[in-house]
Amino acid sequence: MPIATDRLRTLPKTEVHVHLEGCFDADTLDRWAHEAGVPMPRPKDRLFAFQELTDFLQFLDWACGLAHTSDRIAQLAYEFAQRLGRDGTLYADLIINPTHWHEWKTRPKALIEALDAGFKAAEADGLPPVGLCISLLRTQSATEATDLVELLTDWRHPRVGALSVDGNEAAAGRTGPKFADAFARAGRAGLKRTVHAGESSGPEGVRDAIELLGADRIDHGVRAIEEPALVDLLARRAIPLGVCPTSNLTLGVYPSLDRHPVDRLRKAGVPISLNTDDPGLLGTDLPSEYALVAQAFDWDEAVAREVARTSIIASFANDDLKSDMLRRLAAW
Ligand SMILES: [Zn+2]
Repeated sequence: MPIATDRLRTLPKTEVHVHLEGCFDADTLDRWAHEAGVPMPRPKDRLFAFQELTDFLQFLDWACGLAHTSDRIAQLAYEFAQRLGRDGTLYADLIINPTHWHEWKTRPKALIEALDAGFKAAEADGLPPVGLCISLLRTQSATEATDLVELLTDWRHPRVGALSVDGNEAAAGRTGPKFADAFARAGRAGLKRTVHAGESSGPEGVRDAIELLGADRIDHGVRAIEEPALVDLLARRAIPLGVCPTSNLTLGVYPSLDRHPVDRLRKAGVPISLNTDDPGLLGTDLPSEYALVAQAFDWDEAVAREVARTSIIASFANDDLKSDMLRRLAAW
């Protein structure tokens, strides 16, 4: 008997690989566009039906551009916490990449303060807490990267737990050497480090993430499976992978779930968690990701619990919150 999605909704878990830019709600965008007198790129029911990458990037410009006030950014933060509540997720590390938000990219502090206001309001209403991973885009320069890290480490906003890097590695080429200094500075200043690798790059991208960027966690990382010594390294050093099955299938990294390496990585001792990446755009949620994988690989509740436990340990939540989440998981 496969585990029911509703049962997995109650599973105490965290989400550690999810982007605010991937959490847009079609109703909210429809309302904002209407208020601004701006046309929708497509009808609301097909808003996220992208034809190609250019189409997707144009959409991102349009959608992020509508969030031009602090109140709207706070609303997006609040709606994200509501999403966690619906999924039965107890905490999330949320990735945001300031370069996508044109009104804000020169003012990352104002962006983070607006997000923080939304998360505080959500917590006051009993919704789950959220930490931020501030992300570099792969095409940025080494100087832009160190400037951002200096801003974050001088400021030390309590909402910001980590430095991240995302963007297409296949298009940007090898970027580990370029960002090594920025990531070393972030690590020395006490920020955690999370790196997209092993999706649009192969195992060499995962190696660079570990050896050049000091990654505490890897976003995707699934193509590490192509190099057995690397799988051993991930397992031995207990470096967690934030795996996003539906995202990988949608982008064609694997043709079908039964070919996806998530369960082989888990069985090899690599700490893996399940995540949504871009749930609004992909039309998925976290319980569905657990249900899909559980069904494909015949997971029982003990395995689901083990993966949820990894998600809690791999998160950048503080120790008190982690202990509390682990207690709730034990009672599931
Ligand atoms: Zn991602």
